[in-house]
Amino acid sequence: MAELEGLEFGKSDFVLLDEVNMEQFMENLKLRFEKARIYTFIGEVVVSVNPYKQMDIYGKEAIDAYRGRELYENPPHLYAVADAAYKAMKRRAKDTCIVISGESGAGKTEASKYIMQYIAAITNPSQRAEVESVKNVLLKSNCVLEAFGNAKTNRNDNSSRFGKYMDINFNFNGDPTGGHINNYLLEKSVIYLSLSLAVLSALQVIGFSEEEIDSIYRILGTILILGNLQFETDSESVQVVGLEAVSHIAGLTTTKPDNVTKSLLFRTVATGGGEVIEKGHTEKEACFGRDAFAKALYERLFCWIVARINAVIEVKDYNPVLHGKNTVIGVLDIYGFEIFENNSFEQFCINYCNEKLQQLFIELILRQEQDEYQREGITWQHIDYFNNQIIVDLVEQPHKGIISVLDEACLTVGKVTDTICLESMDAKLGQHPHYTSRKVGQTSNAGMGPPTWEPGPPTGEYSVEGFLDKNKDPLFQDFKRLMYNSSNPVLKEMWPDGQLSITEVTKRPLTAATLFKNSIVALVDKLGCKEPYYVRCIKPNEMKSPVLFDDARCQHQVAYLGLLENVRVRRAGFAYRQPYARFLQRYKMTCEYTWPNHLMETDREAVEAIVTQHGFQDDVAYGHTKLFVRTPRSLFTLEQERAALI
Ligand code: ADP
Ligand code: MG
Repeated sequence: MAELEGLEFGKSDFVLLDEVNMEQFMENLKLRFEKARIYTFIGEVVVSVNPYKQMDIYGKEAIDAYRGRELYENPPHLYAVADAAYKAMKRRAKDTCIVISGESGAGKTEASKYIMQYIAAITNPSQRAEVESVKNVLLKSNCVLEAFGNAKTNRNDNSSRFGKYMDINFNFNGDPTGGHINNYLLEKSVIYLSLSLAVLSALQVIGFSEEEIDSIYRILGTILILGNLQFETDSESVQVVGLEAVSHIAGLTTTKPDNVTKSLLFRTVATGGGEVIEKGHTEKEACFGRDAFAKALYERLFCWIVARINAVIEVKDYNPVLHGKNTVIGVLDIYGFEIFENNSFEQFCINYCNEKLQQLFIELILRQEQDEYQREGITWQHIDYFNNQIIVDLVEQPHKGIISVLDEACLTVGKVTDTICLESMDAKLGQHPHYTSRKVGQTSNAGMGPPTWEPGPPTGEYSVEGFLDKNKDPLFQDFKRLMYNSSNPVLKEMWPDGQLSITEVTKRPLTAATLFKNSIVALVDKLGCKEPYYVRCIKPNEMKSPVLFDDARCQHQVAYLGLLENVRVRRAGFAYRQPYARFLQRYKMTCEYTWPNHLMETDREAVEAIVTQHGFQDDVAYGHTKLFVRTPRSLFTLEQERAALI
């Protein structure tokens, strides 16, 4: 719980609300936003509202103020969380992670940058060159990934990326030694991207060779040409409009023009009898193939860049005997629950991921609480919460979950439509308490909802249209072979699966949903063994305005980020805890027996004297080293008295 700044700025910790309800929560959030207090705690969680203007709160002075301090000693800030994660990592040799979530445009990436900058600023005080270079590369790789992973559209919703996870490794000194990046891509919408000078120089700093940078330009050029490439149908056969485009692509990808044309217009198929034939595309198929090709080029380029960066930043020659334990801080920048008017496969995946994260969150928070109570010798109290395992199962259970039904439909030979797929979901999942489906006219919907905790957010509704196509690997093998046969070694490296001939391609590639599920399961495993810290980001309005607080939009986000639940969990046990010495230091002036110094045997007895004098002895528990206070009101009284005295 943070110090009270004065009530004109609202409550700096939502735990201090008189009552936990949406009205009070929103009132406080809005007041703080209007007073340019963009950060508010929920215990150790930071809630952030995008200010859409430059704030003078990230400078060196701020860094110094937060460095090495306890969470509640300063006003809420990203730096408080970054420092807490760093301290836990350094003092207790714990792996920690900072989970930053919120919708697109809510300020996640900015937050992750400030956190990285903070960590960079407080580490390596002796300015050792090799550590400085690691830090520099880590910061630069962020810039490259942002450039490639985010479309600079007016509203962020065209952006193709949905999550990024970066591990930063530290040696026993607490200095960064390297890192690793995982990217979570969805909606492989192609961005026509031009590389800025900053990105170019970042690529060079990271260590991309001239040849590699040249290849990146060539691939981006190819994508651009594909975006303008048209087909026409004359006397039954499909042609590419304008041959320059083809030779241009062949030049950029160092392939033969004839092969480019062939890949665009035909696909190789193996017949039942093992014969290999070339089947001409219809114009529609050719367009579909072209778009899939452009997207795949972009996706593979992106994955290749990440892999290249990882190779550079990976910790090398780490000897635990010589260097001590290698610890990690993970920073996850990921979309929160998304429910729009129309929700499709992408929202389904994002929300499934959030169900998993929510589950981890509850589990870890409860475990953390439980551990602390045990350490302190305090009786554990059961906290009632909604266990969303049932929803996670609905999505991911083998053989009967939504993903499994979807995959089955994708593997079925013959014409399977989205509607047929939905029918098979209905058959398998119709009885599930969190699944409903309805058919209104031509559109069909399947439902899955974020966790409910009364009153709880509404359920999500997804249109099944397009699910099957988005789940399949849409790329014709011919393109893979074309790229693999390029004489550009960089391109070849990106398309190892192009090596297979059509008769060898027997194993079906994993579906998009299954790949996604696997990556999320791996992510949750990674996070699960770390001590988590959270930043919850809120976008105040759709206009990028620094003065507009759109109540409805904000309330929606508060609901979907589960912030009220968060406050409730936090208050369900003991809202506040502090080591005896710190508590004394802060409140000793409010009690005649402790001011200016107490004469008792232990700090604990002195704290008991303060608590008893203020009459809230029934509201506390005494741990081995800390005082635990159940309701914030008790503390509030103390704070007010303290404020009156100073
Ligand atoms: P997200 O990653 O959640 O999609 P961003 O972090 O890219 O969102 O933020 C979107 C925009 O909002 C930024 O480009 C910036 O203009 C503004 N913004 C976000 N956070 C801050 C901040 N702390 N201070 C000032 N502007 C911010
Ligand atoms: Mg972002």
